[in-house]
Amino acid sequence: MAIRRIRLDGDEVLRKVCKEVPEVTPRIKTLIEDMFDTMYEANGVGLAAPQVGILKRIVVIDIGNGEPLCLINPKIIESDGEQTGDEGCLSLPGLVGEVTRPNHVICEAYDMEMKKIIVEGTELLARAICHELDHLDGILYKDKTNDGLYRTDMPEEDE
Ligand code: ZN
Repeated sequence: MAIRRIRLDGDEVLRKVCKEVPEVTPRIKTLIEDMFDTMYEANGVGLAAPQVGILKRIVVIDIGNGEPLCLINPKIIESDGEQTGDEGCLSLPGLVGEVTRPNHVICEAYDMEMKKIIVEGTELLARAICHELDHLDGILYKDKTNDGLYRTDMPEEDE
């Protein structure tokens, strides 16, 4: 198991458009395993390859439903509905912001065997898919907040 360094907001690697993955080489397989390890270590529900400095179209997601997902070259092929809620990102620690996303998405991708898969998600999974796929095009959730960012680590001042 290897934990990779998570790149933080301000790092230009987070603003690049990632390249498609033509095949899963042993190197890519190791990258994906490290991405899962890094995501779990940081208690995240998703991580995109550029967040560990690799400009490839790969994301991992685990919303805690017992179905960890690795999506290679993912594309949203259908989306509908709307949900508004707080979102965070491992590249912007200690911050959240309210983002409106589709409430339902259908995503086409390839799995670790480069088999085409269709993943359908609602609510948190739809949000996670949208958030992680944005990373592959250099987009951060802070670009899309309804009302800016809030700190989550400020002490409450009520007595
Ligand atoms: Zn993120």
